Amino acid sequence: MSTNEKIRFDAIVVGAGLAGSAAAMVMARAGLNVALIERGRKPGGKNYFGGAIYTHAIQEVLPDFMERRPPFERPVTEAGFWFLSSDGGLTKMMTSGGKLANEPADAYMALRATFDLWWAEQAQKEGAFLIPKTTVTDFIRAEDGRVIGVITDRPDGELYAPVVIICEGVNNLLTQKLGLISHDLVPAHQALAFKQVLSLPMETINARFGLPDAQHGVAASVLGDISLGLPGMGFIYTNKTTISVGLGVMLETLIEYRLKPYEVLQRYLQHPAIAPLVEGGQLLEYGGHLIPEGGWREMPKLYTGGAMVAGDAASMVNALHWEGTNMAIIAGKVAGETAVVAHQRGDFSEQTLARYEEQLREGFILRDMKQYRNFSKFLDTHPQFMDVYPSFLNDALGNFFSAYGKPKRQLFKEIYGSLTGRRPLFKAVGDIISMGRAVLGW
Ligand SMILES: Cc1cc2nc3c(=O)[nH]c(=O)nc-3n(C[C@H](O)[C@H](O)[C@H](O)COP(=O)(O)OP(=O)(O)OC[C@H]3O[C@@H](n4cnc5c(N)ncnc54)[C@H](O)[C@@H]3O)c2cc1C
Repeated sequence: MSTNEKIRFDAIVVGAGLAGSAAAMVMARAGLNVALIERGRKPGGKNYFGGAIYTHAIQEVLPDFMERRPPFERPVTEAGFWFLSSDGGLTKMMTSGGKLANEPADAYMALRATFDLWWAEQAQKEGAFLIPKTTVTDFIRAEDGRVIGVITDRPDGELYAPVVIICEGVNNLLTQKLGLISHDLVPAHQALAFKQVLSLPMETINARFGLPDAQHGVAASVLGDISLGLPGMGFIYTNKTTISVGLGVMLETLIEYRLKPYEVLQRYLQHPAIAPLVEGGQLLEYGGHLIPEGGWREMPKLYTGGAMVAGDAASMVNALHWEGTNMAIIAGKVAGETAVVAHQRGDFSEQTLARYEEQLREGFILRDMKQYRNFSKFLDTHPQFMDVYPSFLNDALGNFFSAYGKPKRQLFKEIYGSLTGRRPLFKAVGDIISMGRAVLGW
């Protein structure tokens, strides 16, 4: 092929997920000729999450996003933790008000098949060229090793660009291929999340979750007797006429205990506190997806000459807060802005693309990732936070709010006893200190 026949773009984005379409939007808006390559038949077709998507990130990329009618489900007007015990007890710790009462809301429930399609359409409206049904399999390198294009699975599928942004999601084969990380996915650092989308009439969802209408929605993280005491966390989200319900358990744990994901999910759905909420729901969707939970220590190098990596591919997930979508969108945006700067300078070297990481250090992404750097190890070594404490909290609050007709001093003694019966006091104090270290980065 002669040089003139080469297909050239100013920038190539691999993956039309949350990070990829954000990067493409920013670059196309700045006037770059952008190829957005997606292996799925349509953007969103292969994507899966809980979940709730955060508006602060969408707004940074698309300030007028509400006018563009995003296909949100319900706003998150109640969010928080539910603690389950084995006998079916359920302690709800929900919050509402504050930022949750804003318009637009802080977060909205979404289904990725519709949201990602809309998100990629916004990139196309800015001028990005979407290439679906195409998988990037490798890179084209200059003699000095700099990335100057990609190879796809199409015949004659070589595309050239001086900068490539890799937004390939958790299965980061290309990131590995580029040597930005030296090893394959490690089961100890991946959660396997599995979920069902169940259809129910809107009124039934409202009644079961105590919601006045479809302008109100619940996003709950569920702890306790759901993952057999193993490191894992459940979730339940109310959409307009569906419920997204599922849980994530560390992959290594599933392998070690030979647990079948669908059996763990079935047990969770049959829990006395969950079963009445999902009863009669018609199964519309069932699937599983990995979540990169290795955190800071599992992050690849974020850039090299001619390439940057963003989102799940770079392990940008905060598992405790269910944050991944916002990190992916913001990282995609910052990578896109860096590519624009590189074009202005006519320099796509590693030194210029280092701006990407510098900018991320200024914002919440790398700061949070660093602060939570010990969290995944903490969960591994402190399984009592998955069963002992949630069931204690459930019982303690149940007792606190019951009138037994006995002196409160005795009640508090019993609550104290129910803690120390489960976990000696000095160990409980040690656990709290360890938790502080893992979450606050002490
Ligand atoms: C069950 C579950 C629940 C979650 N819940 C939440 C939540 O409530 N809130 C939250 O913020 N986060 C949540 N997350 C995390 C969140 O979904 C991810 O962090 C986010 O989707 C990452 O976006 P991304 O763009 O990096 O990757 P993805 O969304 O995975 O997009 C990657 C894209 O790249 C494409 N692709 C991959 N390889 C290639 C290739 N070689 N060539 C071409 N295309 C390719 C894929 O098809 C895909 O479209 C959840 C995750 C899971 C699994």
